[in-house]
Amino acid sequence: MTETKYIFVTGGVTSSLGKGIISSSLAKLLQARGFSVTIQKLDPYINIDPGTLNPYEHGECFVTDDGAETDLDLGHYERFSNVRTSQANNVTTGRIYQAVIDKERRGDYLGSTVQVIPHITDEIKHRIMLLATKGNYDFVITEIGGTVGDIESLPYIESVRQIRWELGNRCAVIHLTLVPYLSAAGELKTKPTQHSVKLLQEQGVQPDIIVCRTERHLNPTLKSKIALFCNVSPTAVIESLDASSIYDVPIMMREEGLDVEVMKRLQVNSATEPDLTRWTEFLRKLKNPEFEVNIGLVGKYVELKDSYKSIIESFVHAGTENHCKVNLKMIQSEYITPENCVEKLEGLSGILVAPGFGNRGIEGKITAIRYARENKVPFLGICLGMQCAVIEFARNVIGFADAHSTEFDKHTTYPVIDIMEQQKKIAGLGGTMRLGAYPCRIVKESTALEVYDAELILERHRHRYEFNNKFIPEFEKKGMKFTGINPKENLVEIIELPEHPWFVGVQFHPEYRSTVAEPHPLFIHFVKAALNKGCKRVAPVL
Ligand code: GLN
Repeated sequence: MTETKYIFVTGGVTSSLGKGIISSSLAKLLQARGFSVTIQKLDPYINIDPGTLNPYEHGECFVTDDGAETDLDLGHYERFSNVRTSQANNVTTGRIYQAVIDKERRGDYLGSTVQVIPHITDEIKHRIMLLATKGNYDFVITEIGGTVGDIESLPYIESVRQIRWELGNRCAVIHLTLVPYLSAAGELKTKPTQHSVKLLQEQGVQPDIIVCRTERHLNPTLKSKIALFCNVSPTAVIESLDASSIYDVPIMMREEGLDVEVMKRLQVNSATEPDLTRWTEFLRKLKNPEFEVNIGLVGKYVELKDSYKSIIESFVHAGTENHCKVNLKMIQSEYITPENCVEKLEGLSGILVAPGFGNRGIEGKITAIRYARENKVPFLGICLGMQCAVIEFARNVIGFADAHSTEFDKHTTYPVIDIMEQQKKIAGLGGTMRLGAYPCRIVKESTALEVYDAELILERHRHRYEFNNKFIPEFEKKGMKFTGINPKENLVEIIELPEHPWFVGVQFHPEYRSTVAEPHPLFIHFVKAALNKGCKRVAPVL
């Protein structure tokens, strides 16, 4: 295609309707027709990025190759499209204002009064357009966070209005709303959708397509009613039923014709039907597992599943690859003690200890790791999980009784995990960790080499602390192997226990790189090890 087309996805009525999944599904469908697509999220909050947000507030912070701390929706974009995102794919109000204020201080505005319109809106538009030039995309899908009607979304909706005016047929707007079912009345209600579209129209934006999230089927009469009240054609009213898996949504959107409606509006011709062979094959395997395996996820944010979104999805990908369903048991590390750990962890065929920050739940994580090590339960430790495995080994195998990370005990006799040299002088919190993709060299004759089948890998990071190399000899003497090393800075990236059936700790975050098209090998091998430990057959042998 010669010129990039822009698709905006707005939301109304409530949050959590799944704009990210709809955007990702549309991207998948357009990709399956041979187009290049990228997705961007504009977040109306004032934080510069979600890096400083509590996971209980906003779910997981997703990290890109270029080290951006971003909204978890970018994880969905990558998992669906298998296209890497970057800093440019997530913009917040904080970042927009920061850029405008910096320009003002530099005198770039030549003495004019700096205002929301045009200066803030110009900056927003610039960020949207910039993305297209970066990758020469056929389509840029921009998801506007929040809900229409929020005060903080106004500049974004205004920017959409302007872009639409400027680009005409190169731009389409999809509005996602809720059509609730009132059980007392026994009816689906369209009024919230009508109001929400009206709100958008008041702000100068007429949506082209309305995607209705609903628990029940929308019949043709209802679709026509929505079309009539909202100024769109009935074919542009798309039903989005609750799905049993988020990975069903591209197929559901295909059946509803979302991609066709978008192309109609943008006057794009595509002779071919979308090729979804691989996607459907993935779904077939996902829905027809041969085995079930129980794996525990030990972490401190387990009450909110979004906090571990990428890990949970990585298990879906890796399970499917292994023809099995992973029953993930979320275990609050804060409540694990040496006394109750057998009761809490018994019956698990694998234990994953999650990443994290701060003291809460640390001793529980260490206890769970001891259980996994002593009972030969396959173990994967990610970032803090790997650091806890080092502490556990130091205390219980080497005999360094008060070994700790200096993140939790500044005065420990054995600082086996210590702050990285380059982190010592950093005072601010946002964007200051070791972030993004770094190379790691894999040692011969290791589980890591078996897993990756490569000697040099790239994985994403998000941490301040590291293994303290001064202790390497004591650890090696007692049987821990350091099988992945950052070649430039000599940082430990992977630890293993060769005496154990499968015990791996990684300083990086493999979960950020797992996608439907390319499930992450570490998760695939971990699930395989768990299957070997114990699983249940759920489908007959053919
Ligand atoms: N808190 C640890 C560090 O900063 C681990 C971080 C993480 O698990 N992402 O090094």
